Amino acid sequence: MRKIFASLLVLALFAPAVAAAHDGPNISTARKISFPRLDDGRFVLAVDLHTHSVFSDGMVWPSVRVEEAKRDGLFALAVSEHLEYQPKAADIPNSDRNRSFQIAREAAVVKPDAMGADRSPLIVIPGSEITKIVQPPGHMNAVFITDANTLVKGTAEEQVTEANRQGAFVFWNHPYWHAETPSGVATLDKMHAEWMKRGLIQGIEVANGADMSDEAFKIALDNNLTILGTSDIHGLIDWEYDLEHGGHRTATLVLTKAETSDGLKTALIAGDTVAIYNDNLIGKKANVEAVVRSTLKMEVGEALPKTTVQGVSIINDSPVDYVLENVGAEGAYDEGHVFTVKSGSTFTLLIKNVPDPKKLSLTFKVLNTYVAPREHLVLTVKDTTP
Ligand SMILES: [Zn+2]
Ligand SMILES: [Zn+2]
Repeated sequence: MRKIFASLLVLALFAPAVAAAHDGPNISTARKISFPRLDDGRFVLAVDLHTHSVFSDGMVWPSVRVEEAKRDGLFALAVSEHLEYQPKAADIPNSDRNRSFQIAREAAVVKPDAMGADRSPLIVIPGSEITKIVQPPGHMNAVFITDANTLVKGTAEEQVTEANRQGAFVFWNHPYWHAETPSGVATLDKMHAEWMKRGLIQGIEVANGADMSDEAFKIALDNNLTILGTSDIHGLIDWEYDLEHGGHRTATLVLTKAETSDGLKTALIAGDTVAIYNDNLIGKKANVEAVVRSTLKMEVGEALPKTTVQGVSIINDSPVDYVLENVGAEGAYDEGHVFTVKSGSTFTLLIKNVPDPKKLSLTFKVLNTYVAPREHLVLTVKDTTP
């Protein structure tokens, strides 16, 4: 008995050292939305396709958006200024609507003498927010556009059509926003339904900043739209998120074969995404499962001597904590049926009555994932180490 407890103790001593990455001096590591490659070899790239600068109603210069994005380990960023809403126009006339993108792109270039996060590459994607004061059409983002100036005027339909002509990826922003939808409930109106049918809208935000919407998630699943989370940041990421305690900005994970702008766009159009919101993972089941399966592993350790009580390690290689509910037949000897495996750490537990450890599998409901409104991913894990 002492032997197994000693080995578990060793693991337990090491685990907090990794988990402590959330504390003060290591914020720079903990805030990064950095996932390992999927088991099928695809990359998991974090992107934020909806942010603002002083070139619309944001509070910062576009270069600050870039530095924040680099600190958060993003692969790509869009600074998507409102086309119709320019409250700073008296101070920043903004006659060229591509300027914000140009400044951000320039700021993202890695300089030879760059230090810290500035050494990281970042792709800046040109984008704009179509901003109508009535829902529908409400707000929509067009990213991968070629010229924001040609999008400024016109009806939303004309703008969405022109964005698509430019090859854009277009998504419906915060369809539940209380300022335009007082009930807070996203509903699919005729206008958006028609545009979806014509392929003019390809995605929808299910999470925006501090909000998420079950109804927007349902609209996404029912209409096979790409699922997005975005920060829609106007102030500073550091003010809005609890980075100090392991928090991350609302963003989108894109599952892509190529770490390029084209690879990103292809995966966005294909719908290969997972929204990350308040460290929950939200998306189509196959996508959420791919991300969790590649970052949540099980290893079988030793049994307590002369017993079938088996030591098991659960390893979390993701930047988010996994909250697990044991829903399988196997019961734990030394844990309740709900426990948290912290980001970047190993959690050890004892499983009762395991006659053949080689055949052991555990089934968890991952409570901080959503594969449909109010429905969590259920995942069976086995020891796959050779
Ligand atoms: Zn908006
Ligand atoms: Zn916005």
